[in-house]
Amino acid sequence: MQTNSSAVATTPKEIIEVLCSLQALDDEIREFRDRRKERIDQLERLRKVIAHMQRDVEEQRSKLLETEQWHRTKTLELDTLRDKTNRSKTKLTGVTRSKEYVAVNKELELLRKDIEIKQDEVEKLAKAIDDFRAAIAKKEADFRDRHSEAEVAERDTQAILLVMDAKIAEVDARRLLITNRLDRAVVRRYERVAEARNGQAVAPVIEEACTGCNMTLQPSFVEIVVRGSSLVQCRHCNRYLYGHEDNAFRSAGPA
Ligand SMILES: [Zn+2]
Repeated sequence: MQTNSSAVATTPKEIIEVLCSLQALDDEIREFRDRRKERIDQLERLRKVIAHMQRDVEEQRSKLLETEQWHRTKTLELDTLRDKTNRSKTKLTGVTRSKEYVAVNKELELLRKDIEIKQDEVEKLAKAIDDFRAAIAKKEADFRDRHSEAEVAERDTQAILLVMDAKIAEVDARRLLITNRLDRAVVRRYERVAEARNGQAVAPVIEEACTGCNMTLQPSFVEIVVRGSSLVQCRHCNRYLYGHEDNAFRSAGPA
């Protein structure tokens, strides 16, 4: 039966037909919204990765600064020790008494040990600075790569979202045309069922079962559905039911 595509549906058969179109359109809309959300989520994940990389680089840089500061301090301390050594050596040349000579020599020995320790510290810090610089250079290169990747993704996504939004607006307009053909109460009930049933508010009856919830239905009930003389909802899941004589009933099996 071909119904006028804009007239208000009055008979149950027309209403279920319009509900089927509404369901098909809502499936389309949902798919669009899912894809749209997936796009946005993807971009959001990429943004998080970038932000994490940036924090990581900043952390490394501040550690480098700290290490460089330590290196300067230790180098100054080393210089001071060397100055002291030079002064002691000078002092040693002017020493005449053996007691004093021993004392200065002891002082020099202690300074030598201190210098050794300090030198070792300075070398380790210099090595750490080199390592930090290398790590930062690598992280910065990775960051630049991901960042330009994200910029491309950002632009692509914005363009795709514009297309998707236009498509959604167009489908929403089509939806309005369809819902205008139905009684508000029917649309509201359809929407309530759809919300409760994962978006599926209409289901065909096949082999005496509601394909929405898979529950078996009474043959007399199936007959009402097939006849289409009234708008019928599944007693188990509330979905609007429709059916065709060809497959609504259980086949009697091979003759
Ligand atoms: Zn059902």
